[in-house]
Amino acid sequence: MEVVQVALYESDTSNEEFVEENYRINENEKLSKKKKLKKCWIKERTFDTAAEAEASILDQWSKHYTSHTENGRMVYYRCNKAKLRGPQCSVSIYLLYHADHDKVTIYKTEAEHDHHVDKVRGIDENVNKCIEELYNDGIIKPKQIIRALQARKKYGSHKISLGELEQWCENNQNIPTDENESFVVSYKILYNDEEYEDDEDVEDDGGNKFLGFLIFYKPKEIPPPSPISTPSQCPPLSPQTCLKSYNASILRQSLYHPSMVHNSAPATLHFWVQNKTGFEIGGPSQHTWGAFGIYDVAAKLDVTNFAANTLWESGLADGSVFMWRNLSKGKQYLRDAVDLKGIPNEYYDFVLASHVLEHVANPFKALLEWIRVTRSHGVLLLLLPFKDRTFDHKREVDRLEHLINDYHNQTSEGDLSHLNDILRLHDLAMDPPAGNIDTFRVRSEKNFENRGLHQHVYDQELLYYIFICLNLDVKAQFTWDLHNLIIGQKQ
Ligand SMILES: [Zn+2]
Ligand SMILES: [Zn+2]
Repeated sequence: MEVVQVALYESDTSNEEFVEENYRINENEKLSKKKKLKKCWIKERTFDTAAEAEASILDQWSKHYTSHTENGRMVYYRCNKAKLRGPQCSVSIYLLYHADHDKVTIYKTEAEHDHHVDKVRGIDENVNKCIEELYNDGIIKPKQIIRALQARKKYGSHKISLGELEQWCENNQNIPTDENESFVVSYKILYNDEEYEDDEDVEDDGGNKFLGFLIFYKPKEIPPPSPISTPSQCPPLSPQTCLKSYNASILRQSLYHPSMVHNSAPATLHFWVQNKTGFEIGGPSQHTWGAFGIYDVAAKLDVTNFAANTLWESGLADGSVFMWRNLSKGKQYLRDAVDLKGIPNEYYDFVLASHVLEHVANPFKALLEWIRVTRSHGVLLLLLPFKDRTFDHKREVDRLEHLINDYHNQTSEGDLSHLNDILRLHDLAMDPPAGNIDTFRVRSEKNFENRGLHQHVYDQELLYYIFICLNLDVKAQFTWDLHNLIIGQKQ
């Protein structure tokens, strides 16, 4: 399959114009602070379930931002006729997901719609056809397409509003059943007015800029990748024969496919760690790495935990010796997974983390730290829960975009924005140590101290794309029992 990546939108303006533009935006910001108006919200309707409420607003509204209040989560939407520039339509709504029950109430602003209604919706049919022709002729870059369209003169400027563009991206995110149809894998629209405090009403300043990027996959008609040999077919003493089938340059050109995952426990892990120096985040993990003999075959292993006493360990001391079965293996650190300060760059041959990443509120921040301390061509071995067989089974797998946003928003490890969803969906029957809903809630509200929450939910596909994002060569993926394992090599 061929990946078509649409380049990040670049402005044609010179540096001077850019400075000028910035200057004007700053002026606007100052102005908007002065003229901030309170919107008047009217209760529209209350729905019994979130699904009903969300279905009722489909296609007319674009999600704008979320704030968390004592009354519950408030998700704001604005009229999706929002323009690319200039004053926005003044109508917006928000959905209140009540904190104390399952109902959802919709509130709407008092204002009337003031967007222009005489606009063409979406991309003109003729322009669409023309783009298709250009595409078939090999003109696939957005700038080339725009230039070619302008050269043909009869097609004027594009007429699609920011809200419609956003909605189009949202509607085209599902992988189509038709192999030849393109779809949006990832997009991001950066608003200039994205800074909100909880429960604060914000008046649009009209200075929005579209700083988006789109990635399209244009699948070609080729057969799906053939299944990869399982470890049982792969002699344990020469794992390379097995690992060769994971040719990263081929993988990178293909979409994730479930057949890439070994459906059994790995028999080849020693290859990556034998006589090597490693680092474990949140160890030791006697039921996983320990059971695989990793601690026995590694030459040296340093370990970090986020605190001296955790739900899993106690009495740890920073700078002490890390012992495994009465043998000194390395050094014990007390560091947060997202901040390995004092640990040198490019030092370790391998980094281990077993059932850790799902507890991290800012996973990309953590992974970038773990990659920092890994030497070039060193490997990351990550074990995460196979959610369908754990207490997370009712939760949905998080989207890659969400994790990227957590990174850009500098989400802290004290973040509790997922708490309501977790309390609602956590299967306590499968998690006896958590106790009942009250003890679980009390523990979870102190999550920064105990880190018991699974902040995010992963599957093999999400892990694969995370590794691709981080420029890690995916070497192998295994799923067995309660575990998903992914191995990636630093370039
Ligand atoms: Zn409107
Ligand atoms: Zn998050």
